[in-house]
Amino acid sequence: MPSLDFSLNPFIVIWETTRACQLACRHCRASAMRHRNPNELDLKEVTHFIIDQLTEMDYPLFVLTGGDPMERDDLVEIVRQARYAGLRPSITPSATPKVTYAIMRDLKDAGLENWAFSLDGSHAEIHDRFRGIRGTFALTMEKIDYLHQLGIPLQINTTVSQYNVDDLPALAELVGKLGAFRWSVFFLVPTGRARVEDLLAPQQQESVLEWLVSLEQNVPFDIKTTEAPQYYRLRSQNGSAHASRAGAQTRSEVSVWDGNGFLFVSHTGEVYPSGFLPVSIGNVRTTPLSRLYRESPVLQALRDPNRFKGKCGYCEFNKLCAGSRARAWTITGDYLESDPFCPYIPDPRRKREMPNSV
Ligand code: SF4
Repeated sequence: MPSLDFSLNPFIVIWETTRACQLACRHCRASAMRHRNPNELDLKEVTHFIIDQLTEMDYPLFVLTGGDPMERDDLVEIVRQARYAGLRPSITPSATPKVTYAIMRDLKDAGLENWAFSLDGSHAEIHDRFRGIRGTFALTMEKIDYLHQLGIPLQINTTVSQYNVDDLPALAELVGKLGAFRWSVFFLVPTGRARVEDLLAPQQQESVLEWLVSLEQNVPFDIKTTEAPQYYRLRSQNGSAHASRAGAQTRSEVSVWDGNGFLFVSHTGEVYPSGFLPVSIGNVRTTPLSRLYRESPVLQALRDPNRFKGKCGYCEFNKLCAGSRARAWTITGDYLESDPFCPYIPDPRRKREMPNSV
């Protein structure tokens, strides 16, 4: 297991291999484009500036995202280098014709550990409209079949918005049928192509999270949320222990949030607390990643709940939840502000004890 001392080492590092992608997803964080940027990190730079650095940071989980990682022709070699260094690489490609059985097999042979596909609807009409290309749902089903043939563990990622919220029960059923080890549920943050009006309302988000907490007790897969850490508060309020499952090996036992155990490196080497919180703390081409992670004043502030403002500053759950720092930043312009989409009202008596809470 990677380190749990998040002041020293991240638990998980996401690298945006490229911004190129042939899909046109309506909520795309990266505002992906058709062509690769000539300034992307090349294989030598990735090996030196990221992979070697991760070995000095206690081997965090290493996720290759995009854009679409399949747009890179050196992807297999990158996975091989990461595995050779002792990392456990995972990948989140787009479901396109570029995902062939042969490349999946080569990635597995190179040491790929897990594979995540996105499903934003339980059937083609919803998913394909979300992804912007007709036929993507059918392609995803075909590629998932390849994963099963090759024995590569599958994670399903879903981005929740007003557009698909009513379809979530059907999606949960499909995730179970597809044999995924984890359902990773992202709650929209208005960055890239996502719009504020697509977000769930605070009470609506709370209801979905309550539903997920109870669902987790009755399904064989692990459930994880991104940018909705109130899930962990609700779990605690409900006394729901997290069931021990296969996916539990790739999730932290203590809370991870943007900049606290979590780090994002862009396609050009810029380093952010997360992909949804694109506040640059430096570039791997000029400063070692380990130094950026350990010494950045932005990350040090994000790791300290005592510096959070508003109700997140005095909430009794702030070390477990911390609020979505990315949503606080996109809505208020301040990543230390209270998460504006949390309906929970902490005990006001705590407010008087916390000097930062206003
Ligand atoms: S007030 Fe902040 S820390 Fe408390 S549960 Fe809500 S988002 Fe989380």
